[in-house]
Amino acid sequence: MDLYEHQARELFEEHGILVPRAEVTDSAKEAREIARRLGGRVVVKAQVKTGGRGKAGGVKVAADPAAAELTARQILGMDIKGHRVGKVMLAQPVDIETEFYVSYVLDRAAGRFLAIASAEGGMEIEEVAASRPEAVARIHIDPAEGVTSAKASEIADAAGLPPQTVDVLVRLWEVLVREDAVLVEVNPLVRTAQGQILALDGKVTLDGNAGFRQARWGAEADAHDDPLEAAAAAKGLNYVKLDGEVGIIGNGAGLVMSTLDVVAGCGAHPANFLDIGGGASAQIMADGLSVILSDPAVKSVFVNVFGGITACDAVADGIVQALDTVRLTKPLVVRLDGNNAARGRAILDAHAHPLVQQATTMDGAARQAAQLATSA
Ligand code: GDP
Ligand code: MN
Repeated sequence: MDLYEHQARELFEEHGILVPRAEVTDSAKEAREIARRLGGRVVVKAQVKTGGRGKAGGVKVAADPAAAELTARQILGMDIKGHRVGKVMLAQPVDIETEFYVSYVLDRAAGRFLAIASAEGGMEIEEVAASRPEAVARIHIDPAEGVTSAKASEIADAAGLPPQTVDVLVRLWEVLVREDAVLVEVNPLVRTAQGQILALDGKVTLDGNAGFRQARWGAEADAHDDPLEAAAAAKGLNYVKLDGEVGIIGNGAGLVMSTLDVVAGCGAHPANFLDIGGGASAQIMADGLSVILSDPAVKSVFVNVFGGITACDAVADGIVQALDTVRLTKPLVVRLDGNNAARGRAILDAHAHPLVQQATTMDGAARQAAQLATSA
């Protein structure tokens, strides 16, 4: 569950980290009022759950309330890396002297948290890490000990951050622990010309397992600004949008993950992840198909089902019924295997839909789907 920048800002403020004064709105008219309240000159920032907003034109300075309204109008509705901007945050501009980078992230492989910090903030940390790895400090944190002042000093020293950041590093750790986060990132953390340390941008990812304790964020935390993901979430589907052209439906997260790999191995690109789980009812199949078919990038669809408790004939029935309600506009390759596979295949054969073809193996089906997608 990712939070929006304005929500991360709110958490930072609650934990005593300095942040610029700011307000959020979905209306350009209101943006003008907010700018007036904040003193006229403001930074207008797109609220989307993706980085690189600055580069994409989603962070702009407006000189006065009228300009703030105009800028908000430009940014609202903008598409940033597939995320539609529904809200903007208006913030008091800050006189930046230096930009730093700090984050804490769960390092599952190490069974520890990892502090990443750099005196070269502002730009994407991946770029700094690639071009100047020595400029990025990486220090593991024992979860039972956490970030004490001593640990924070160690992190600041290693990264070349000024001593005033030590207090912020301790408070940022408190955000992570108290708010059930698995990632907190501040980029940039800035030192102002007046010598204050401020968090100018924030990213917080909450631990989904603690969702029941974080009811405060409600639907906002699960909000998807990708329209296909939003439509899928509304239907209760486990769907993740990807950049390719082969739509994928499978049962079981592991099978779907390996389906993505096999399709990629055939030289095509998966358009999505969609796990329809164990039930595989006609309704779920219809919902899944309609979301995938509404993705203009999709050229073919690959349904990969291994029948277990839900047998293949039930899945085949589900597909046939789904085709009554969803108009198939792109070729569908179905691979049924496992429990009652032969009965399932017979049901689809009998239905004989001109756009549906079957394959007996996962590799064969992936090849067919990839070929249909790349030749379309
Ligand atoms: P991101 O591109 O999504 O990471 O958005 P940020 O909130 O980090 O903004 C990008 C860049 O805009 C920052 O690194 C700053 O250089 C600049 N910026 C953001 N807010 C302010 C501000 O109040 N004053 C100044 N001078 N620059 C700002
Ligand atoms: Mn940033």
